[in-house]
Amino acid sequence: MKLFDKLYIDGQWVNSHANKLLDVINPATETLAGQAALADEVDVDRAVSAAKNAFNAWSQLTSAERANYISQLAGALEKRIDDLTDTITAEMGAPLGFCREVQVEDPIDALAKHADRAALLDQTLAIGNAQVVREPVGVCAFINPWNYPLHQMIGKIAPALAAGCTMVVKPSENTPLHAFILAEAVHEVGLPAGVFNLLNGTGAEVGAPLCQHPDVDMVSFTGSTRAGIAISKAAAPTVKRVCLELGGKSPLLISEDADLQAAVTFGVDDVMINSGQTCTALTRMLVPQSRYQEALSIAKEYAESLSVGDPTDADTFLGPLASREQLDIVQRYIRTGIAEGAKLLTGGLEKINHLETGYYLRPTIFSDVHNKMTIAQEEIFGPVLCMIPYQDEDHALEIANDTPYGLSARVWSGDSAKAEQLAKKIRAGQVYINNGDWNNEAPFGGYKQSGNGRELGNFGVEEFFETKAIIR
Ligand code: NAD
Repeated sequence: MKLFDKLYIDGQWVNSHANKLLDVINPATETLAGQAALADEVDVDRAVSAAKNAFNAWSQLTSAERANYISQLAGALEKRIDDLTDTITAEMGAPLGFCREVQVEDPIDALAKHADRAALLDQTLAIGNAQVVREPVGVCAFINPWNYPLHQMIGKIAPALAAGCTMVVKPSENTPLHAFILAEAVHEVGLPAGVFNLLNGTGAEVGAPLCQHPDVDMVSFTGSTRAGIAISKAAAPTVKRVCLELGGKSPLLISEDADLQAAVTFGVDDVMINSGQTCTALTRMLVPQSRYQEALSIAKEYAESLSVGDPTDADTFLGPLASREQLDIVQRYIRTGIAEGAKLLTGGLEKINHLETGYYLRPTIFSDVHNKMTIAQEEIFGPVLCMIPYQDEDHALEIANDTPYGLSARVWSGDSAKAEQLAKKIRAGQVYINNGDWNNEAPFGGYKQSGNGRELGNFGVEEFFETKAIIR
């Protein structure tokens, strides 16, 4: 069991003003995974003030000095890969092998690549008698969810460090433990005091005061659209910059000429990974009517071959949902789907025999789904796939775009020119073609209610700059 009984503020481990500990529950065993100090509004003031005081000196370091700190931090995290993996698996249930590769190694690699991006701050542009320079936006507050917790954290910390900003970081109260390991690494590499501050706490007690704080210049938030709206409102009176990475209901558009076996198994895999708790999950599979029955049988057979169980077992594909609350939410959606007339192709609410404890669900697929049904419109955030038939490509595009979200999408076709044309017509921040792979350098973010702003790569760093014109 992990115990982190202090917060990290101004380069030191300090007692929280609230003087309380938060229990973190392991969703596989329903026992204590750890405890972490809980912050309150007084701690918010201390942390913001530390970040504000550190800003001038940090932002004036050379790019090479900031780059060096970023490289050192990536190195210090690399030494903690095992600890981070075990901790994230214990706090949110991702299977160990997947957790190590996707939840831990990948973000550390993304952080290391940001060393070179520190030089972006030095780029200038001449426009007639104006010289355009970049400056760091200032003190940032980072508010994160629990589903890929280190990835989302690094997606904010790495560009902020590169851009010369200082920060106060709030992980999800469901999964704070990994963030304390990150703070230990920050301390080990001697990042100047106040550049990175860690507060653990709830949205109401720590998140909201951070958004309202007059000395916070920018909030970057990843989480639900519901909280993103509340955060925007809380930040509005102080006119700070707000970047939002929110939910999704992404389509996989399978075209008539696609390799159906490859497309459908990829799609099922994509939804079930991380037990469906992936913001970009392709939760609506759009299949031509003429191939719908064939697609259903491929999907059913493949989903039933996926193993559900203990996330520390090497053979497990789906671990538990991350919390009792998340399990309840997903079960409610499954009941709604059935009540609205969708057919349960596989999975559902039945308990899994060999799993007495833990928040487990079977991989669940609904057929005969109409895009207006609740399960096709709202983000479920669990291992639940909706398979929707379409008549022709125009109809498929209409369904693909008939969603309040626009985070991601994928088009699967035997004709790459056609796939690209379809991709251009989908309103989403990322559209993949066939089995195109995740790219940490490519801009990531949403259209519509999936958010604003971009993370990762050079585009992610741009979010942290102010632009100044010096005119002679
Ligand atoms: P959530 O919105 O409930 O919580 C996210 C964070 O916001 C937590 O740290 C929480 O404490 C804080 N928070 C909640 N209400 C707040 C408020 N009023 N003011 C300030 N802070 C507040 O989301 P979650 O359940 O942790 O995560 C799941 C959601 O995150 C899903 O909707 C998923 O799609 C989304 N997500 C989006 C991306 C992306 O990059 N677009 C990535 C991962 C997850």
